[in-house]
Amino acid sequence: MGRGSAVVIVVAAGSGSRLGADEPKAFLTIGGRPIVCVAVEEACNCPSIDTVIVVSPPGSEDRMRSVLATVAPGATVVAGGATRQASVRAGLAVTSDAAEVVVVHDAARPFAAPGLFTEVIDRVASGADAAVPVLAIADTVKRIRDGEVVSTERRDDLALAQTPQAFRASLLRDLHERASANDQEVTDDAALFEVAGAHVVTVAGDPFNFKITTALDLAHADALRGGRRG
Ligand code: C5P
Repeated sequence: MGRGSAVVIVVAAGSGSRLGADEPKAFLTIGGRPIVCVAVEEACNCPSIDTVIVVSPPGSEDRMRSVLATVAPGATVVAGGATRQASVRAGLAVTSDAAEVVVVHDAARPFAAPGLFTEVIDRVASGADAAVPVLAIADTVKRIRDGEVVSTERRDDLALAQTPQAFRASLLRDLHERASANDQEVTDDAALFEVAGAHVVTVAGDPFNFKITTALDLAHADALRGGRRG
């Protein structure tokens, strides 16, 4: 597989309901700039990415295009779906059949560095079906049921998955089609590959590449971006 040309699909269609904000999370600002701008800019700084697709909250495509005008004027903007998986499918639908590597990234992770994109792309270009950044778990992990602890998991066998995740494009398309036909719903795309028995490799994740989910995460991200200004 050739190196140096990958498509990135940045999914930014979430409502951000867990943040309690009255507008979609992607448009909330950190350090004075919309989260989606920061995330897309970092992706564009990866030299291996030549095509950018941004999946927008439905009905906000024009706003998304104007917000991205300075960082990614050539980006294709499409409307997302009701779930993250449906939003990825919407992005895949406008991805060229010629693409060999597709990277899927959550706009909600604006601190993913360009080098992390390069790493996952390189692993797929070198033969893996999928590459996922992961972080070790520092806390003790309990399995619970009905408010009671059932067991303690061996945390050495567990990891926290991040995006960007890179994939062999043809397999990503096939697996999404199959999942949709079978009503199979997953929270990240790598899960489709694991279930299919594909070769999914890991790279070292980055603790700074946290996902903005809660108001605390947003305040944390804003402080980090503010600290970078000047
Ligand atoms: O909700 P959560 O933060 O887990 O979503 C992860 C990413 O998926 C976010 O960047 C969000 O915008 C995106 N998403 C989407 N379409 C949805 C739900 C989530 O693009 N329907």
